[in-house]
Amino acid sequence: MKMTNKRAQKRASAKASTTNVSKFAPAKAVAGGKSAVKFEYAPSLESTDIVQIEKRNRLFIGGKFVEPTSGRYFPTINPATGERLAEVAEANEKDVDLAVKTARQAYEQIWSKMSGKERGRYLFRIARLIQERARELAVLETMDNGKPIRESRDIDVPLVAAHFFYHAGWADKLEYAFPGQSIAPLGVVGQVIPWNFPLLMAAWKIAPALACGNTVVLKPAETTSLSALLLAQIFQDAGLPEGVVNIVTGAGATGAALVNHPDINKVAFTGSTEVGKIIARAVAGTKKRLTLELGGKSAHIIFEDAALDQALEGVINGIYFNQGHVCCAGSRLLLEESIANDFVEKLKKRIAQLRVGNPLDKNTDIGAINSEAELKKIGKLIQLGKDEGGEFFEPKCALPEKGYFQRPCFFSNVSSSFTLSRVEIFGPVLAVSTFRTAQEAVVKANDTPYGLAAGVWSEKGAKIHKVAGQLKAGVVWANTYNKFDPSAPFGGYNESGWGREGGRHGLSAYLDVRGK
Ligand code: NAD
Repeated sequence: MKMTNKRAQKRASAKASTTNVSKFAPAKAVAGGKSAVKFEYAPSLESTDIVQIEKRNRLFIGGKFVEPTSGRYFPTINPATGERLAEVAEANEKDVDLAVKTARQAYEQIWSKMSGKERGRYLFRIARLIQERARELAVLETMDNGKPIRESRDIDVPLVAAHFFYHAGWADKLEYAFPGQSIAPLGVVGQVIPWNFPLLMAAWKIAPALACGNTVVLKPAETTSLSALLLAQIFQDAGLPEGVVNIVTGAGATGAALVNHPDINKVAFTGSTEVGKIIARAVAGTKKRLTLELGGKSAHIIFEDAALDQALEGVINGIYFNQGHVCCAGSRLLLEESIANDFVEKLKKRIAQLRVGNPLDKNTDIGAINSEAELKKIGKLIQLGKDEGGEFFEPKCALPEKGYFQRPCFFSNVSSSFTLSRVEIFGPVLAVSTFRTAQEAVVKANDTPYGLAAGVWSEKGAKIHKVAGQLKAGVVWANTYNKFDPSAPFGGYNESGWGREGGRHGLSAYLDVRGK
């Protein structure tokens, strides 16, 4: 049979990628001085044919894609190759002002007057369209962010749809969420989000805001704007009234213009603690409401009676499967002293099996670091950990020649005073230390400026409850990690932020709730 040009090209590209992937595979994985089992996976590349990326991506204001008044565009890079994917518009103060004015008009004339049932219908429609275009969204997210397709396909996009479904259900039942109290939307909400879960963070922000009757101006992170703009197309297809959601792309200056705009009623920010503090200062003294979802340095506590193989997978899932790019990544590992040595040996063997490489390959465990700047930051912090005297382990797997990649690694025998125990690294880097008593574990886990999440591993329920009750973390997972559900509130203590997203608590962040 004659092969068409397209099929011939596909074969050629699969062959090329086989060569690459065999490099990523643990050809002779060496861990703890012993050879681990050698196995290789045939490549299983997700096709990018489904995604059409515009060369120049404009702002989404008033239900249309519009040129920025600045006329300026900046590149967005595929971190797995280092190559330019497209250009994205840079919104200036004028563009932000137009977006806010448009959102205000849509709030006053349409959205705040609409019944909850009607708003819910739009949200259900959006959720179903997200499901219909799930593959396209997942592939685009992986291309722009660098995360493995397995994560964008199986975790991010299903959760994005789930958030719209969940909040669609609330839209006409808000009075039951706050019985005996009067509720009203806040008005126009300015939302600024990070690059680690671009689409999911957009859904976490937009779905509750709309369900509660607010209109939105959203600013995605500058390295990952594309999936939010695809979501804008879905809003158009869902017939969402013009101006109800507006998307302004750009970097920190665009975010600052939005946060400082005088006609915003609420700011919702997810990102670094550093920028969160700047925003808190900017909003202080104004009437704007504020929620902040910030960084983390979350700890796993593993007791000797835990199911250790299961706990090991929880640790791997918590820090490595997502390049450590999760705010609640389990980046500190506290091991009961009696099991510490064995567990560390198991960890060495297991991370030597992880596949680092092309994020579009369905076998890939660890994809690309989102940007060159992030990769450099991770490298500096690893060097600092070595300088401070941590025992470093990294498997000898090969990395792709192009793009931004970091091997999974960990430091053992670190104390709470080490920089890498305190600072959010946001990469696949784990800090391991030990404890003797449950009380010591709690003290060590709480010894951080953050307080986003924690994981407790034990077969004794009473022990888990006792320890969990003493942990200063917004979420505590028991014998599992990184499990999300739109009905469960998420948020942090201390420098991890203010307020909650998700569940009934998340609704109250988008409503004015008063006693009758
Ligand atoms: P970042 O703070 O650098 O940027 C976040 C967003 O803020 C981006 O859109 C950026 O353009 C914008 N921004 C930058 N300066 C600004 C300013 N002065 N005013 C207004 N906006 C500004 O964070 P990042 O590197 O994109 O994301 C990683 C961080 O996000 C990590 O610290 C991570 O823990 C955190 N995060 C937290 C959660 C959570 O739910 N707690 C979830 C995801 C990510």
